[in-house]
Amino acid sequence: MSSPNQELASYRASCHCGAVTFTIRTPSLSDHQVDRCDCSICSRNGYLLIHLKRADVDFHTDLNNMVSYSFGDKGGAHKFCPRCGSSAMVEFNENEDSELWINVRLIQGIDLQKLNYKDLDGKMMQPIYKAPQIATTPDQSSTPSAVSNFKRYNANCHCGTVTYTIHIPSLSDHQANSCNCSICSLNGYLLVYPERQDVVFYSGYDHLSDYAFGTKMVTHKFCPTCGSSIMIDCNGFAPVGVDPLAINVRMIQDIDLNKLKFRYTDGKNLF
Ligand SMILES: [Zn+2]
Ligand SMILES: [Zn+2]
Repeated sequence: MSSPNQELASYRASCHCGAVTFTIRTPSLSDHQVDRCDCSICSRNGYLLIHLKRADVDFHTDLNNMVSYSFGDKGGAHKFCPRCGSSAMVEFNENEDSELWINVRLIQGIDLQKLNYKDLDGKMMQPIYKAPQIATTPDQSSTPSAVSNFKRYNANCHCGTVTYTIHIPSLSDHQANSCNCSICSLNGYLLVYPERQDVVFYSGYDHLSDYAFGTKMVTHKFCPTCGSSIMIDCNGFAPVGVDPLAINVRMIQDIDLNKLKFRYTDGKNLF
């Protein structure tokens, strides 16, 4: 947070679809440490947080445009856009002198590679998050490929409404894609690309919200209760004979994002 004599810079921020916009006043982001926490909600929803006084945030759209999601001891309300799923901030109470924790992913024109991060071990914070059990019978009649080196990963959105399994080669052997295009960067996608049949939904698929933009060729799917971005359905727009889904590895139960191998795509300049 700012001290009285520090010069403040203004940054405009918005969710991906633009339904939520605000301006923050803060010391230059190059002087900030941005919290990168591995707790259940930060790692799933891709939060990169700075702490601001509420008075240093001007909303250009109604705060009520966002959905609030709380869990556990209900210490904070996690706010995200119901149209595009971008997680915007964490609010602790509505007092004027309270803090808002702002997700810097929403700051327009930000280069996430250039920020200074402070890694926080939130995973061990009480109460420890318990991922939901995956049911024994899927919602969908889908048979994953019988490929011997495929591993089954259990995954769920934060609130547990959406549960599914992903069948892919071990993540210790293959890279996840970290892309800097607008939607990957704002919603925090880290992607792998299984075939459609290798993602089996056990609950909540019909609950997912859809968001499309630009050419609307692909559909982003996120949980409307907790704001977790689950996947991008390529809707068959892929090489002939392939029908992949782009699946966000952040949802995989007990995943350690620090141990993954990544390849980096310069989507900002490609798409
Ligand atoms: Zn939005
Ligand atoms: Zn959810």
